[in-house]
Amino acid sequence: MKKWLLFLIFLIPLFCGCNKKTELTIEAVIEQNKTDLISIHYPKTGFEKLDREIKNYITNTRLNLKQYIKENVYIEDLPELNIDYEYKVVGNRYSNIVLTTFFTSPLLAHPIHDIKTFVFDQKENKFLQLSDIATIHMGKIKMDLVKQHQDCILIDDLEKVFQKPNNLKFTFTDQSITLYFNPYEIASGNCGIIKYEFPNKEFYIPIEKTTLQKASLYKPNKKELSSKKPTIALTFDDGPSKYTKEIVKLLNEYDANATFFILGNKVENYHDTLTFVLESGNELGNHSYNHKKLTKLSSKELHNQIEMTNEVVKKTLGYDIRLFRPTYGATSNSLKSNINMEIVLWNVDTEDWKLRNSKKIYEKALHDIKDGKIILMHDIYKSTLESLKLLLPELKKQGYQIVTVSELKEIQTKRNEKN
Ligand code: ZN
Repeated sequence: MKKWLLFLIFLIPLFCGCNKKTELTIEAVIEQNKTDLISIHYPKTGFEKLDREIKNYITNTRLNLKQYIKENVYIEDLPELNIDYEYKVVGNRYSNIVLTTFFTSPLLAHPIHDIKTFVFDQKENKFLQLSDIATIHMGKIKMDLVKQHQDCILIDDLEKVFQKPNNLKFTFTDQSITLYFNPYEIASGNCGIIKYEFPNKEFYIPIEKTTLQKASLYKPNKKELSSKKPTIALTFDDGPSKYTKEIVKLLNEYDANATFFILGNKVENYHDTLTFVLESGNELGNHSYNHKKLTKLSSKELHNQIEMTNEVVKKTLGYDIRLFRPTYGATSNSLKSNINMEIVLWNVDTEDWKLRNSKKIYEKALHDIKDGKIILMHDIYKSTLESLKLLLPELKKQGYQIVTVSELKEIQTKRNEKN
């Protein structure tokens, strides 16, 4: 009898998906290769079925790029692949994911854009189609689309796409549904990706009210700085990530602070982590919204990359960003004149993104670190976190004060005044 009971208890978690606790992480692949630039972000939700589909999409897109690169030769301007994500859970149950691919190459007249959506019911462990969620009035939508995109809509293609409504790409909130169309799907290429949002309040599926996340109120804490001690500024790019919290805990242990140059696309999903970053006395800087190479963008796109990040940080964390670090360290005169923030580069590159070995990162950093330097690291690698476990105690032993970029500047101003 006891054995059977144990067996049943063992089976419960297999059948009952209801209390499954999952934690969202955002996977990041950022590479500066000899043949291409790659920046990919996608959610890892903990729901195996959903994660597998997302991963397939990413893998196939990367394979296509590899094939393309093999067939062409590049000298200066490299092809760039950027996959960005949006992730929202509606009614504490439905994952809504949008993956947007942007691919540009000097051999293409225009960048390629591609959009892919996933709507997943966590409780039933299944993907949802448009017809699962609500009654859709296709006639009205088609009429609106024709009206809104008169100059590019292709009527025959539009009709064809709407003949298979369950293939339509969509996401929803408790208030509305959004449809997405790729370039050339229903219109000529000049209209790009078309988004169509319409209000909808009556769903077939049950939707709980989502509780809103409270914005934190950031209060800077002033700490005592010495202008006599040797001082360095630690900086971390490309985060936040699943390692950021651990890094901050480590910094706290050694009474150290750092500047985190973050990507706007991860701010909402890492709200708790970023609150902890700020509460521990660290500083946030802007590193664009989704890590596109900025020197190639139009001034409007550049403005979006920067302002979207500043806005989401202000909205969710109540913090004003003042510092900016360009992606791939690439600057140009037009970039400088278009940015209304202080640009911060670095003078010690630990090459953690390339080395990916804690001992080597530690040795490289220790070799190059001197008073007054700004150190570049990335908080998206486990090896970087591990290298800090070696580096921080050693730097403390050598008497270093480890501070944010703004604090380092403050100290340098004080030193200059004295001289
Ligand atoms: Zn970067």
